[in-house]
Amino acid sequence: MATNSNLQMSRATRADEFYTQLSIIEDELWHYREFFEEKIFFCNADDIINYFKDVITWVEAIFPYECKSLMNGLPWGIYYNKYKNTNLDPILLESKIKELLQDDDVTNQKGIYEYVLSGDERSLQIRTFDCREARLAYERQNHKCAICGKECEFEEMHADHITPWSKGGKTVPENCQMLCRDCNLRKGAQ
Ligand SMILES: [Zn+2]
Repeated sequence: MATNSNLQMSRATRADEFYTQLSIIEDELWHYREFFEEKIFFCNADDIINYFKDVITWVEAIFPYECKSLMNGLPWGIYYNKYKNTNLDPILLESKIKELLQDDDVTNQKGIYEYVLSGDERSLQIRTFDCREARLAYERQNHKCAICGKECEFEEMHADHITPWSKGGKTVPENCQMLCRDCNLRKGAQ
């Protein structure tokens, strides 16, 4: 009898674990919706569960100081596929994450994990200059482009970080310059 109840308990625990994993898998699969569309799959559930266990082990190893609210809903399977063979230092990643969490110019904190993996600044949605900051720079420059000197209407100009965010430049009035459309495009292409 005791054995039987142990068995039942272990079954219940396993089922519990299975359903916990299942919700993670569902979350993950959502990101592959387009890929799965109109396709029929025959697969072994163990393979999928083992794959997601690998993903979870990888995430726990490189981000041991987890921040659940930021980590929820991110496409970890995609990150795993892309970066599982990259040599990543959890301590370095952690210090980068802490720094970014305190940076007011980072408007998309959920993008921090993708940024520390890919280095792609777009995932952080760095704050742009507001209209007042842009106006101040426009008047300071006497309505002229900071690079070529062409005089332009305010609406034709673009507010630009003098020192880019990636080099430590903040989104503050002193770091704002107005560029004409052509100079802005040229600078953006560099
Ligand atoms: Zn210009």
